[in-house]
Amino acid sequence: MKTPKNLLESCDPGQRILIDLDVGALPSGTPIKIRAHVIRAEKPGPTALLLGGVHGDEINGIEIVRRAVSSGLLRHLQCGAVIAIPLLNVYGFLNYSRDVPDGKDVNRSFPGTSNGSLASRVAKVITKQVLPLVNFGIDFHTGGWAHHNHPQIRYSPKDHSAQVLAKAFHAPVTLASNTIPRSLRNTALEMEKPMIIFEGGENLRLHGPSIDCALQGIQNVLVAQGMLSTATSKAQPDTLMLNKSSWTRATKAGLFEWCISSGNWVEEGQTLGYLRDPYGIHEEEIVAPRKAFIIGHDNSPVINQGDALFHLAWVE
Ligand SMILES: [Zn+2]
Repeated sequence: MKTPKNLLESCDPGQRILIDLDVGALPSGTPIKIRAHVIRAEKPGPTALLLGGVHGDEINGIEIVRRAVSSGLLRHLQCGAVIAIPLLNVYGFLNYSRDVPDGKDVNRSFPGTSNGSLASRVAKVITKQVLPLVNFGIDFHTGGWAHHNHPQIRYSPKDHSAQVLAKAFHAPVTLASNTIPRSLRNTALEMEKPMIIFEGGENLRLHGPSIDCALQGIQNVLVAQGMLSTATSKAQPDTLMLNKSSWTRATKAGLFEWCISSGNWVEEGQTLGYLRDPYGIHEEEIVAPRKAFIIGHDNSPVINQGDALFHLAWVE
């Protein structure tokens, strides 16, 4: 029996193809497929993974990979190959949801199994059919519901190769953060495939500056890997290297108004925002617990006790 070709072998050198990977079907019987672009240079070299839509409502990540494929950025690969998957979690995308319909998070279901939950089956496609073929990857995310993230790259401090990729990407913020069990980044680390995470903007909204920054980052990484020429690189501001972060959470439920948003430094004791009851009686000032850079903030005007309001990062 002939062994089926893998993604890379299906594409001849110097060619690009679109491959559908089967993952399942909707209750209606409509098949669900993960669509992967494979773009190969004539010359051999590293294989990169560009992945979006692990969380179905994180549209910036999907749009970044879509634009990378459609803009011509990958048209002149000098060597190697790119596997670009704009939308992994088709189920979540259809439902404007981070998760798959049973409520499970694909990014907490790695490495996955082919006979487990839906999220686990989606994860397995990446673990089995994609990760073994790549040398490194960039996983593009977006902030959560009503949560805006300043454009940033996250890498595992245990993974030197990922740190090199993170620096080459040259996002406005580069944050060292440990991997979460059962996440894609954790499985990639175990398979010795350096993987970095991009975060930018808020779910269900396109954020132009984050998308532009990510496309520049893809170009920077591919140039650093020798896969693209340096011709179009332009001067970019320094990246801010940070290695600690924590959340400032709401002590009370109520109305929330921020005074300062992501992308700014704050001093210890500086006013970040206010929590108020809806009746004009109580008001609580939220202050910065330390000097830090705001890498994410909540845009929801109505919040519950314990909700994450500001994501602060600094160097320790
Ligand atoms: Zn995400």
